[in-house]
Amino acid sequence: MNIFKKLFGKTDKPKIEVENYSDSIDIEKEYESTIKLLDKFKKKAFLPTTKESGNTFSEKSKIGGFPYLRNENDWPKCPNCKKNMQLFLQLNLQELPEDKKQGLIQLFYCTTSEPLCESDLEAFFPFSKSVECRKIEINGESASIKPQIDELFNEKLITEWTFKDDYPHPEEYDQLGIELDLDDDVYELMEERGIGLPIEKDKLYGWPYWIQSVEYPFDRKTEKQMELLFQFDSEDNLPYMFGDAGIGHLTQSPDNENELGFGWACS
Ligand SMILES: [Zn+2]
Repeated sequence: MNIFKKLFGKTDKPKIEVENYSDSIDIEKEYESTIKLLDKFKKKAFLPTTKESGNTFSEKSKIGGFPYLRNENDWPKCPNCKKNMQLFLQLNLQELPEDKKQGLIQLFYCTTSEPLCESDLEAFFPFSKSVECRKIEINGESASIKPQIDELFNEKLITEWTFKDDYPHPEEYDQLGIELDLDDDVYELMEERGIGLPIEKDKLYGWPYWIQSVEYPFDRKTEKQMELLFQFDSEDNLPYMFGDAGIGHLTQSPDNENELGFGWACS
């Protein structure tokens, strides 16, 4: 009996290895053709490097801290709790790695927990009243005030942008006309190699990482689909959690740079 077992063992083993080998060649081939197809939809994304610094009213690109203020009444207040909204993001358009322009983009979000403005005013949907996204001009020194806010986030200056290729989320394939039925093994390879999928972290530009479904807002005048300007992951650079590890998107209308929206979703 032992001899039989040994014999079977010996004949079986190489056969299985050969099957695995050809399987992995097939997966590799499918992976390559998938990436080749998705390369046509590749976009540039830029990951921020941040450095904690003292809070200063300045026009620098930053996450948290003090915004640039045109006057003493310029820090947006939440209509629900009447407090100043937290600065989530300030982008100095002159400091962007691409499409440099004049001015600032600022994103404010009410983080008051009593009352819970986020849920009272449905801040997960774009154009909520407890969120302010705006493009403003820099005109002289910033005003400085003492904000009324429960817990101010420490300011993190954006010191560098790192370029990465970014790819559309599979949820978006249909809308983009991508005919692709992603195989599980191929998907695993894409995740492992960090190629072919949208980056999940904080980033400028690129493709949104959708948690539920495709949720681009539309320009409230022209009804054109908005585009990703900045993505916030929960607790990446921002000391904030969107629901249960959600992801937020600041989007901008291609028709009007003043039409900005912010929304988030979690699973
Ligand atoms: Zn509020």
